[in-house]
Amino acid sequence: MELMLKAVENIPLIQKGDDLADLIFKRADLKDNDIIVIASTVVSKSLGLTFYLSDLVPGAEAKRIASLNNKDPAFVQAVLEESLEVFVESPFMLVRNKNHHVCINAGIDNSNVGGGRLLKLPCNPDGCAAKIGQKLEELTQKKISVIITDTNGRAFKEGQTNVAIGLYKIKALRTWIGEKDLFGYVLEISEEAVVDEIAGAANLLMGEAANGYPVVIVRGLNLYTQETAGIREFYRKAEDDIIIQGLLELKNQ
Ligand code: GDP
Ligand code: MN
Ligand code: MN
Ligand code: MN
Repeated sequence: MELMLKAVENIPLIQKGDDLADLIFKRADLKDNDIIVIASTVVSKSLGLTFYLSDLVPGAEAKRIASLNNKDPAFVQAVLEESLEVFVESPFMLVRNKNHHVCINAGIDNSNVGGGRLLKLPCNPDGCAAKIGQKLEELTQKKISVIITDTNGRAFKEGQTNVAIGLYKIKALRTWIGEKDLFGYVLEISEEAVVDEIAGAANLLMGEAANGYPVVIVRGLNLYTQETAGIREFYRKAEDDIIIQGLLELKNQ
């Protein structure tokens, strides 16, 4: 068995309006079943989702949380505007963003943006993945999957890893339920989070700094699916999530 990961070379600094599918197509020789992993940072830039803190007018809630965290109230306002729900207010903000992704600061980020600007996550990453994937499929006439990613921290462990936040023609989970293990025991709950595994692997080439590799091609897996299941089905419902339940109990104490 073999798996290939290849970063796409010579992607320029992305500007609002850039056509990512076209940029990738011109720089990569894509094959059937390729998975194109794209950092959300460049998707957001292509959508023009940059802003300045001076664009925001902080409300009372933003001012209150900002004073707890020693943050700029305008930054907290931006986070609140991108969030459906706040699970932790302090010492950092853990929120559910508008696409139901649970992350710190709603994924608002200033790394690799420049000009004193900040960047929001795309509000419909599945839609963005579909738009890029459909165009790539049209241009190449190949079966192409797309994963849009963002770098996130984890509970329980130090360090960050890339995770999937938007999908096109790839299923989030590979189920092993009903399969037999080496000794004939039938697996009952094993579902492998393949899109996060692929996102993490791709980040080995992307890096986090001035590397300049926002797009990685993953070749050698057979995960293409016509049904475009979105990322939403991957997010556990709050009522089934004991960590979220615990955080809400703490917050409401
Ligand atoms: P995030 O995880 O989506 O927030 O993205 P990062 O900020 O970690 O960037 C991931 C990779 O994309 C790194 O290699 C960056 O250097 C690269 N990157 C970010 N923006 C651009 C860009 O506009 N052009 C190019 N060529 N690379 C970029
Ligand atoms: Mn970044
Ligand atoms: Mn980010
Ligand atoms: Mn990153």
